[in-house]
Parts: sequence; structure tokens; C-alpha cells
Amino acid sequence: MRQSFTSLISASFAPLLVLGSCLMLALSPGLVPDDLSGLVRHGPFVLAVLGAAIGLWFGRGRAVFVMVLLLVCYGVLVANGGGFSAEGLAFLRLATLYLVPVNLVVLGFVAERGVLNPRGIARMLFLGLQLFIMVMLAGQADVGAALRAILAFQLVDAGPLFADVPQPAFILALLSVGILIASRRPLEIAFASAIIAIVAATLAGPGYLRFGYLGATGVVLAGLAQEAWRMAFVDDLTGLPGRRALGHALAELGNQYAVAMLDVDHFKKFNDTYGHDVGDIVLRRVARELARVGGGGKAFRYGGEEFTVIFPGRPADRAKSPLEDLRKRIAAIKISPPDKNKTVSVTISVGIAERTDDVTDPWAVLKEADQKLYAAKQAGRNRVVL
Ligand code: GH3
Ligand code: MG
Ligand code: MG
Repeated sequence: MRQSFTSLISASFAPLLVLGSCLMLALSPGLVPDDLSGLVRHGPFVLAVLGAAIGLWFGRGRAVFVMVLLLVCYGVLVANGGGFSAEGLAFLRLATLYLVPVNLVVLGFVAERGVLNPRGIARMLFLGLQLFIMVMLAGQADVGAALRAILAFQLVDAGPLFADVPQPAFILALLSVGILIASRRPLEIAFASAIIAIVAATLAGPGYLRFGYLGATGVVLAGLAQEAWRMAFVDDLTGLPGRRALGHALAELGNQYAVAMLDVDHFKKFNDTYGHDVGDIVLRRVARELARVGGGGKAFRYGGEEFTVIFPGRPADRAKSPLEDLRKRIAAIKISPPDKNKTVSVTISVGIAERTDDVTDPWAVLKEADQKLYAAKQAGRNRVVL
């Protein structure tokens, strides 16, 4: 519970920063000097193109589609790239209020399939078709008016508050935002924030729409950056920070610290007996315990079934007891392999070393911990060696 709350907070940080900045810009126009006002006007184009390019670059098709959607909506609605009449623009304002939440919530939940492949291209065509129909209808006075009446349907009379955002669209947006935020993943939270930005800007009035799209494109771009960070630093299988993150953490250590190397015992045999999939389940459960190691320790997946824990500011003897607790907790994990009528468990061996005046390089300390780990294996496994 606490962990899920922390992940929500950390994933919400960038969106709050971006949306907060756009809100400030919207509320105090004086902040942007006149000769820089183009930044706000062209900002959504620049951010959307940049985001789509980055998304394309590392295969985040869902973000690419969202950027294309925002780009087209902004282009026709706010920049009025189609030269629409006032009625046409009113229709577009309504249509985007439905189109954006629906597409974002769907894209938040379909599996990532990239862009430049048959599935990705089919998705792009489907999105393009929706946008094409929307733009065509906006140009048709009579059909547009009839549809506008349907889209503008209100559930109850709430006066001027919902003048620009029909209540069904508002409820749809609320639901979409709730569903997306509940996933607690950065990109989905970014999608939710984009919906918030656009609906809030529409509520505020047509003059604020450009700030809404600036926020929406900015927040999805920030979500992509977070996603890139996650891909680089977080291990996919276990959710623990990986080797690259370990390198950074080691470089930041001060003059006192302990490093522990951990290795699952007889894991090859475990895989051979119960299958690689059950092995993966075990690694995830082991990682969950590692993430909660006490004593101020921070856990990393070193690679395979090997993990590293660093204890900044702690000598080795004070890292031993949290690692003993961890070893016991891991030994107590019970996994039930499918189609086996029993539970199985694993043990770990641990080696600990600390920085001394003789060994000051963190990687050398880690190597020493690895030698202690070897000693633990030699001594019979399922133990911590200092
Ligand atoms: P020891 O007690 O000496 O550590 O024996 P071991 O069998 O654990 O040692 P070894 O290093 O020979 O084997 C490690 C095994 O870990 C081999 C590999 O199949 C397994 N392994 C490594 N990464 C993964 C993974 O991501 N998932 C699964 N299921 N197994 C993995
Ligand atoms: Mg090993
Ligand atoms: Mg092993």
C-alpha cells in the first residue's frame, strides 16, 4: 500500500510541475513578454512533434498516437488550421472533448505494439479516420449543427459552469482520468494529466485552450522522458533498479558504506526442476523482499539471480542484521508451482564488505563482497558472511 502510494507520488511529480507551470502562464499572461508569445502559440506543435519523434525512436507507439491526436486537435481547433467558421470551431471544441479522453484511455490500456508494423499502422489509420471524420463534419454546417446539439447534451441544468463542457463529456473525462491514474504508471498518468489540461482549459474558455494544449503536449513529453528513465534504470522483471542505476549509486557514496552481494542458491537446479517461469516468479518475490531490506539499504538487481544492496553511511557489521533478517524472510517465501501439489522455496547466500582506507573504490568493495559471497557458498550456502 505504502509502496503504491510512493509510486503514484513519484509518477505524478513531473505532471504536476508541467501543469502547474502552464496554469501560471495562463493566469499571468504578463509572464511571457509579447515578443515571446509565439512560444505559447507554437509550443504545442513543437512539443507534439518532438514527443512523436522520441516515441517513434524508442518504440512507444501509444505516445506517438497521443501526440498525433493532440497535434491535429490543436492545429484545427486552436490554430484554426482549417479556417473553420465559428460554428465549425464550436463543433470541434465539443468533438475533441469526447475524442481525446476516449482515445487516451484506450491507448493507456492497449498493449504497446510500436508504430511501424502492421498493427501499429492499423492503429494509426484508425486514429486518422476518426480525425478525418471530425474535420469533415466541422466543415458541414447542417450535419455539424445537428451533431453539435447531440454532443452538447446536458444532464442537469448547472448554469454557466458547464457552458463549454457538456456534463457527459465531463463525466467521461473524470472516469478516464481515474482509470488512467489508477494504473500508477508514468505514461498513463501523463495521459490522464493531458485530459485534465484540455478539459480544464475548455472549462476556462476558448482563450485558454492554447495553454491547455501546451500543458497536454508538455506532460506527455515529460511522461516519455520518465518512461525512458525507467527503461534505462529499472529492471523489467523485478522492478528493482538495475546495474546502470547501481553504477550511479556507487559513484555517489561517501567515505563510509557497506556493500552486500546476494545470490540465490542452486538456482540453476531450481529452474531445471520447476521451469524458468516459476524461477521468474521466485525472482520477483525475492526482489519484493529486497526492496524492503532494513538498515537504510538500497537493493539493485546486479544481473541474473544476483543482487546488490548498498548501505550508505554504515559499517559492514551494522549491515549484517538487516541482511540476516532478509535471508530469513526469503527462506520463508513459499511458492506453489502450477501442477505440483506442494510449495517450494529458495535460500540466498550473502557476502558483505565495507569501504576501508585500503579499499576506497566502490567497485573494489563490491568485488570484495563478491568474494565473501563465494565464501558463503563454500561454507554451505543460506548464510551471510562478513
Ligand atoms: P549457486 O548456489 O552456486 O549460486 O548455484 P546456481 O545454480 O544458482 O548458480 P549458477 O550461476 O550456475 O546459475 C544461475 C542460474 O540462474 C542460471 C540461470 O538459469 C538462472 N537465471 C539467471 N537469470 C534468470 C532469470 O532472469 N530468470 C530465471 N528463471 N532464471 C535465471
Ligand atoms: Mg549466480
Ligand atoms: Mg546462484
